[in-house]
Amino acid sequence: MCGFISIMGPEGTDVIQDVLDGLVSIQHRGQDAAGVVTFSDKFQAKKGLGLVREVFADKHMGRLRGHMGVGHVRYPTVGLGDGLDVQPFWLEYPVGIAMAHNGNVTNFHELKRDYFPRVAPLGRLASSCDLEAVLYVFAAQIMAKQKGGIDADDVASAVSEVFKTVKGAYSVVGMIAGAGMFAFRDPFGIKPIILGKKDGPDGVSYAVASESVVLDVAGYEKVRDLAAGEALWIDKDRNLHSRQVANQPHRPCIFEYIYFARPDADIDDISVYQARMQLGRALAIRWRETGLEVDAVIPVPESACPAAQAMAEELDVPYREAFVKNRYVGRTFIMPNDKERQASVRRKLNPIRSEFEGKSVLILDDSIVRGNTSRQIVKIAHQMGAKKVYLASYSPALLYPCPYGVDMATKREFVARDRSIEEVRKEIGCDYLLYQKVEDMVDTLTAVGGGEREFCKACFTGDYPTGDITERMLADIEEDRIAASCSS
Ligand code: AMP
Repeated sequence: MCGFISIMGPEGTDVIQDVLDGLVSIQHRGQDAAGVVTFSDKFQAKKGLGLVREVFADKHMGRLRGHMGVGHVRYPTVGLGDGLDVQPFWLEYPVGIAMAHNGNVTNFHELKRDYFPRVAPLGRLASSCDLEAVLYVFAAQIMAKQKGGIDADDVASAVSEVFKTVKGAYSVVGMIAGAGMFAFRDPFGIKPIILGKKDGPDGVSYAVASESVVLDVAGYEKVRDLAAGEALWIDKDRNLHSRQVANQPHRPCIFEYIYFARPDADIDDISVYQARMQLGRALAIRWRETGLEVDAVIPVPESACPAAQAMAEELDVPYREAFVKNRYVGRTFIMPNDKERQASVRRKLNPIRSEFEGKSVLILDDSIVRGNTSRQIVKIAHQMGAKKVYLASYSPALLYPCPYGVDMATKREFVARDRSIEEVRKEIGCDYLLYQKVEDMVDTLTAVGGGEREFCKACFTGDYPTGDITERMLADIEEDRIAASCSS
């Protein structure tokens, strides 16, 4: 999971301010590194490890000029997470191409082992980031096709070659020096990507980003989400061209709605906020079936807040923000080992005793991955004197690793893997544990979306929509995750 933005404005304008505003608005998609490449008559770049505000300073603004720009925030899922892997990547010769992506290449190891040594025996990959594979395959095709100029068909055939060779789920934005801006979405549309536009005194500007919130803050109006397998080309006169490169069923990632996206985002015309509220409501209906009385519904902040509000409303009990989150502690999930993760839960969430003492509380989280957060918060609730501590997750039990770029633990780390719900409950130490049912989750999102929908929900069901996930791929990804956590 990462975030990107790409903007093309009229020649003579500068897009850097909008690019940086956009990146800050999707900082939640990656806090590990940030980078921007702009183009006026040449590429200018600034990249570094850390948050956007740590990487960029006023002094960089003067240099990062140009009417085209690509920005990226990184959450490393593949690779060692060092400086070499910071996006965007770019090539200068024989065609200038800059690129950033969100997602994961599932056959990256295979490409490194077999494909690249075969097609380019003297070449080598410079980074351990899978974007490099996309960039080289795309660039080779553009070089072969272009005859003095680049048009939408050249871009579409390059994307088609990428889809044939580079497997996985990735949405991509980029620019071709002096020619225009491109964007494409993976054949199953697993990763989000949205197009917006803004009219200005010098003409229209286009922006393509991972989340609609980027468009909102940078003042772009939403045009539409890209279709699964669609390639966009915006030429140098800012004419928009679209080509449908693949025709697979659309399966957007359901976990974006549950956890990853901001609540004020809209993905594929589904409001993340509405989705979370309705997931809370659906779970409340199931909770009633348990017959257990509760004094309050308490969210694990922040993703669970809308769902907990709706759940409390539906159950007609108070909603209490009884855990206060310190926003300045990093995400607990990305701490290198379990001990640190547990300590950081305590640093991050502080309870308000009066809301627990002598009460039966229902604590709601978006998901339970390793169970560290749940174990800790249940323990804290008991320490605060709660009479009963019930726990609910508005997503179903996570059981299968995500090969498409959601950092979802290796399979042996999932607390629910190979355990019954009762065993998970014991493991976590709560008095009752309720998960959302897969069918309730899908029905709820379908209803919010207002029409028949299907999603990638492989992390809950093991049904990988690309149909090409092998045990070997999962093992390679698992090895990468373990190496990354050892090296951090
Ligand atoms: P755990 O303590 O491992 O069970 O993690 C559960 C918590 O991590 C939940 O509260 C989620 O909000 C959060 N979470 C779930 N998936 C992810 C992810 N892919 N990256 C970071 N955090 C996550």
